Amino acid sequence: MQKIKVGVLGATGSVGQRFIQLLENHPFFTVSHLAASEKSAGQTYGQVMKSRWKISSDIPAYAKDIVITLPKPSETDGVKLVFSGLDSSIAGEVESEYAQAGVIVISNSKNHRMDANVPILSAEVNAEHLDVLSAQNTKGKIITNSNCTIMGVTISLKPLFDQFGLESVMLFSMQAISGAGYPGVPSMDILGNVVPYISGEEEKAEIEPQKCLGRVVDGKIVSADFKISAHCNRVPVFDGHTVCVSAKFKKKPNREEILKAWKEFSGEPQKLQLPFAPEQTILYREEADRPQPRLDLDTGKGMTTVVGRLREDSLLDWKWVVLSHNTIRGAAGAALLNAELMYKKGLIS
Ligand code: NAP
Repeated sequence: MQKIKVGVLGATGSVGQRFIQLLENHPFFTVSHLAASEKSAGQTYGQVMKSRWKISSDIPAYAKDIVITLPKPSETDGVKLVFSGLDSSIAGEVESEYAQAGVIVISNSKNHRMDANVPILSAEVNAEHLDVLSAQNTKGKIITNSNCTIMGVTISLKPLFDQFGLESVMLFSMQAISGAGYPGVPSMDILGNVVPYISGEEEKAEIEPQKCLGRVVDGKIVSADFKISAHCNRVPVFDGHTVCVSAKFKKKPNREEILKAWKEFSGEPQKLQLPFAPEQTILYREEADRPQPRLDLDTGKGMTTVVGRLREDSLLDWKWVVLSHNTIRGAAGAALLNAELMYKKGLIS
């Protein structure tokens, strides 16, 4: 089988590095185009990343000799799809240029998430949102991931929303420093500290899950109609966002019904046996003090959403804790799963 040529935009950043790691020996895709800013362009990936690689395995050999370019469709050498981990200051415009040039863009940036006809795709949650792509008026199409903080939250809500309906959700995040990109939050601001503000984060957390959980009606995504209130905090954890969630349901489920819904939840990735699909989409930990980033982050190679501490909430109905890997399930891994889904559905020719 001939592999599909793909590119990584923002290949030098936190998310970009994950893409480079996860795309090594991928059965469907082969990387031939890497792009970043002027600071990196013109040098090989190996040269640039010698002092910047932050993942605990070596830089994959396949990437080392690729010369980084600026993110321009004319530099793509025939790639069909690009994964974007570009900074949001530039992502919107650049991703549109690639889509106009006929390249599929799978983005991690906020810029296009709320555009009509652009799905916030989470492969187990809303694979049917791919149906709206035909309404995008460019040859290439743009697909986005949700914000990394609410990726796991939305996955934990999906089976409950489908079975019991949702009225309102409150969430309190404890977000890792790698979520701020590289070099991110200065060490003197975050070590031994908590920062109770992340610019723009609460606004995204309060609208993206409803779009993700929305339905396609007459070819358009109609967002779900429940409210979210979010508190977002940066904590001194390297990788892994932990979120405390409280929810009020239209029809209050009992504990067994919730645990059953989580245990049985799976979607298209599992049905299609996609290479990056976790066997278990949601894993519930019974221990009183789990999930914890240090102990649970690598569950399902970072693709499983780990949930724990389900208990009744004295204000709303139920509360629980969600952990998900921000650069894998919350970014590069989820984007790769979306690309695998599109490939299997014949949307990447
Ligand atoms: P990052 O570490 O700061 O990386 C940003 C990337 O964008 C770098 O490769 C950088 O290249 C490139 N870039 C910046 N300005 C550019 C320009 N003017 N022209 C071309 N390339 C430029 O950020 P990140 O954490 O990987 O995040 C990337 C995107 O994903 C952001 O939109 C972020 O919100 C989103 N996201 C991040 C996470 C996470 O956990 N980190 C999770 C989900 C979504 P140089 O190195 O050459 O400057």
